[in-house]
Amino acid sequence: MRSALGVMLASAVSVFVIVAVWFWTYSPRAVLAAPDTVSARQAERLPAAASAKSARALSDEIEVTATIAARPSAVAPSTVASSTVKPSAALPSPALPAALLQPKAACANADALGVSRVVEIDTTGGPGFGFEHFKQLDFLADKEVVLTFDDGPWPGNTPAVLKALADECTKAVFFPIGKHATYHPEILRQVAAAGHTVGAHTWSHANLNSKKMTEQQAKDEVEKGFSAVKLALGAAPSPFFRFPQLQHSPAAMAYLGSRNVAVFSCDLDSFDFRAKDAAQIVNTVMTKLDKQGKGIILMHDFQKHTAEALPTLLGRLKAGGYKVVQMRAKAPLQTLAEYDEGLVKDMKLPTVSARALSNVVQTVSQ
Ligand SMILES: [Zn+2]
Repeated sequence: MRSALGVMLASAVSVFVIVAVWFWTYSPRAVLAAPDTVSARQAERLPAAASAKSARALSDEIEVTATIAARPSAVAPSTVASSTVKPSAALPSPALPAALLQPKAACANADALGVSRVVEIDTTGGPGFGFEHFKQLDFLADKEVVLTFDDGPWPGNTPAVLKALADECTKAVFFPIGKHATYHPEILRQVAAAGHTVGAHTWSHANLNSKKMTEQQAKDEVEKGFSAVKLALGAAPSPFFRFPQLQHSPAAMAYLGSRNVAVFSCDLDSFDFRAKDAAQIVNTVMTKLDKQGKGIILMHDFQKHTAEALPTLLGRLKAGGYKVVQMRAKAPLQTLAEYDEGLVKDMKLPTVSARALSNVVQTVSQ
């Protein structure tokens, strides 16, 4: 029994020794295996580093792509502009705001009066238009008319005129008063944005043919008027001018010629400023047109009755077979810096009085 017990003990010791030797032999490798795992992880970082490189490459690509993408987008508008602006050359200035450069949407009114043709005017030397005063340039064919509007911009009336013109998808020439342009620049911007031609009509609607008017004063009225329109539009106006009350002074005519500004009289006067109602304006214009057959029509977007008459008048023009010609300038007017700057200074004059309204204005009788 003792020998059997001894064998069992010996076997147990042997097993213990074997296990101990195995453990001592392999467990350090298990510990050493850890760096292998770590190095394996480090190895796994290589793709991470590679992906970092590829991320940089991607960002490079993005930058390159953006640069490439920017070029066509920079080229596209100029391509559009050159193909759109050149034929018309209507737009008052290369510095015209982008909103004003956008081509107009197609006319929604299939039966609109529209514009039958667009003429571009080279204003070199100051050509005159309108047979009431200037008879050299007879460019209108029978049944052709040019719509012109003076004395705006004015709240209510000018927007109503613009709506009537837009409803018929037709265009006109506007001769705004400089002072009015400074009062309501946003309305004048609507006129330009709608694609109409914008000239000028003096600063304060002074009679430039008055005996009291000096040549310098007449020059100031002309130039300050154009500078005021430019200030309102943020772009140079067309070099188109109409004398207040059609009072052409020879000296002012010579001056405008030296400035390469076209002078507009008219072929038929609507006398809308003294009409008792809209119907009278329609009758006056249509009676004269049917007699003369064509012409530059003088109206006032400043006048309420004109705004009221316009939808009917445009409808009568269409029904009568008349066609609207739009006049545009070949190049914008170069305003004079001294007047541009002088006007800005005037506009920034501080308000002298800071007194409360009730201290300034009191009702003394009611
Ligand atoms: Zn006027």
